[in-house]
Amino acid sequence: MPSPVIPFIDLKSQYEALKPRIQERINAVLEHGQYIMGPEVKELEAKLQDYTGSKHCITVSSGTEALLISLMALGIGRGDEVITTAFTFAATAEVIALVGATPVFVDVEADTGNIDVTLVEQAITPRTKAIMPVSLYGQPADMDELNAIAARHGNLPVIEDAAQSFGADYKGRKSCNLSSIGCTSFFPSKPLGCYGDGGAIFTNDDAIAKACREIRVHGQERRYVHTRVGVGGRMDTLQCAIVLAKLERFEWEVEQRLALGALYNRMLDEAGISRVQQRADRTSVFAQYSVFVENRDQVQAALSECGVPTAVHYPIPLNEQPAYKDMSVVGDTPVTRKLAQKVMSLPMSPDLDEATMALIVKTLVASTK
Ligand SMILES: *Cc1c(COP(=O)(O)O)cnc(C)c1O
Repeated sequence: MPSPVIPFIDLKSQYEALKPRIQERINAVLEHGQYIMGPEVKELEAKLQDYTGSKHCITVSSGTEALLISLMALGIGRGDEVITTAFTFAATAEVIALVGATPVFVDVEADTGNIDVTLVEQAITPRTKAIMPVSLYGQPADMDELNAIAARHGNLPVIEDAAQSFGADYKGRKSCNLSSIGCTSFFPSKPLGCYGDGGAIFTNDDAIAKACREIRVHGQERRYVHTRVGVGGRMDTLQCAIVLAKLERFEWEVEQRLALGALYNRMLDEAGISRVQQRADRTSVFAQYSVFVENRDQVQAALSECGVPTAVHYPIPLNEQPAYKDMSVVGDTPVTRKLAQKVMSLPMSPDLDEATMALIVKTLVASTK
């Protein structure tokens, strides 16, 4: 099989465009030498607060750690239930299990893959302590409806797993600032990535922010005074410096993603290929661009032969994974099962060009014949 000529996610072009700024930023850290909690950490947190409109931003060592620390800050643990979906990356359910709580999987919308808000209320029990929707593929879930449901049930916290949706808009507000807590990831392939692991927690609640800041550094209120059990969850100064450099081009990248996503939509609709839909009041940043295909294995192999890389987000619902199938309380999730069988992601990056996209779509059409 020839190696792919088209990158699935083009981090190289991005680096070429930002090279001098990234190198300046890295050098500045090497010169001042504050590798842990250096000035770039605060600088990034302030910039991300401005960007999202959120009162607090707490950078952490990964998106997974952001979710974990959020649950710890809310005091969620043994005997508690957290409502989420099974059509997501394992980290979403993993953190719920790690604090000793039970993930309760609710089915998803057939057209977006996001949590089906019409099924949430019936999943709430006296043990429910939070709702954790995923803003899948870069498109926020219906957060206002979830917030309304949460308000009706004793103000349950709503934690947005915004690992894929940093930069997306929802009814004029920014993803990560749509509910009690928003968590994002700076994993390299996410819309805003660093060159390693990183993540951030966003909240407008002072007490939650304080708890997250303390848990991030081993539950310290001040040095060597440990008021709660925490983790080693800081984001490296170097990684914060890299995100700062990348932020300089981020708005352009978001605009590109929107334009390229719309172009893919048009090309695929013309070709009669079904795809994940965007709701009019939610703007996806297209962290992934996903279509629906039958005979996915054959289609992927045919595309790969032609140098078009693809991926599957996600092939196995979490409630069918060996690690989670016994511990989870579930209703049936037929839509999740169906989507897991037929979803497939196409190459997507801000530096993708129209000619390459046309080639990808043409090859896809030929592969599905
Ligand atoms: C990537 C991702 C995470 C985890 O982020 P990391 O930074 O890799 O730990 C969590 N949830 C979703 C939906 C993700 O896509």
